Amino acid sequence: MHDYQHHWKDGTPIHLPLGKIVCIGRNYAEHARELNNPIPDEPLLFIKPATAAMHITRPLNPPRDRGSVHFETELAVLIGRPLSSASEEDARDAILGYGLALDLTLRDVQAKLKDQGHPWERAKAFDGACPLSPFVAAEKLAKDHLEFTLDINRERRQSGDTRHMLTPIVPLICHISQHFSLLPGDVVLTGTPAGVGKLEPGQRLSLELEDALFVETTVV
Ligand code: ZN
Repeated sequence: MHDYQHHWKDGTPIHLPLGKIVCIGRNYAEHARELNNPIPDEPLLFIKPATAAMHITRPLNPPRDRGSVHFETELAVLIGRPLSSASEEDARDAILGYGLALDLTLRDVQAKLKDQGHPWERAKAFDGACPLSPFVAAEKLAKDHLEFTLDINRERRQSGDTRHMLTPIVPLICHISQHFSLLPGDVVLTGTPAGVGKLEPGQRLSLELEDALFVETTVV
């Protein structure tokens, strides 16, 4: 059942509806290379529906009957104001908080869809395909770049630094808003760094954003 709601790190609910999760593919060159994908000239966008969201601390239980399931650790941006064809200033002001997300992907399904030139929703939009952490207020992370990590069973698997994004956060939000509106409560996932891999039963995932946020979850 879909019962996701945004929260701040201290557990307080954020009373904004999650409308959609807008994602970017291949925003870190090294990740594009590890999957043998060309680097796109403009952001490659796709959307996960609100029904894909779940609280990341709940055990992850992705579909097991459709081939491999990959984790992609991503910085999540919570939008706080409506944006349509936004300026960089408006986009910056609209960032309400930062969190971490897993862009769970049925990689074999996606490979087949890519070959056929079909959309990716079957691979990336299933229920539970977007575990989301609580959010940290944007003003508490007012730095010129943000770093985040994923450890699995205490071993470092992914390290992200927003300095390495091909399209940085604010231009990305502007770009999205040229094509469709963002509304308060929407979330933007900003792409995964290299190191993606398979989710396996029993894994324990630990995600950290700067020294501001630490969350753990397990795989059923
Ligand atoms: Zn992704």
